[in-house]
Amino acid sequence: MSQSTTYRCLNCLDHAVTRSFDTSHLSRTCPNCDSFERFVNQAVIDRFEALEASPPIEFDWERLERREKLLVAERLARTDATLADVNVTELDGSVRPDDEADDEGSAEAGADGLTEADERDSTEADP
Ligand SMILES: [Zn+2]
Repeated sequence: MSQSTTYRCLNCLDHAVTRSFDTSHLSRTCPNCDSFERFVNQAVIDRFEALEASPPIEFDWERLERREKLLVAERLARTDATLADVNVTELDGSVRPDDEADDEGSAEAGADGLTEADERDSTEADP
């Protein structure tokens, strides 16, 4: 058997590797963008491009980051899940509701009230 599966770098979508086994993704260092990345199955890329061509109306596709879109595509391509089954907010908990992290690499904390007011320790007075 000479069946092979192509995997493509999720970061640059440019570098591809071929393996003799079929799985959803690999994790390896990309020689093109020089970062340790997830390489996704070509079937996932195909699904991703189909979704880009005709964005689903089930959720805010356009609001997703490319990486998130690819995770959705991966789930659709590799499992029996349908768009209705994919809840974007459940994707690894990595989907942020707004723009508080507006750019990768900007690790400036405390710029504008990012302190979490977690009042779980408030003492409850007995009556
Ligand atoms: Zn790459």
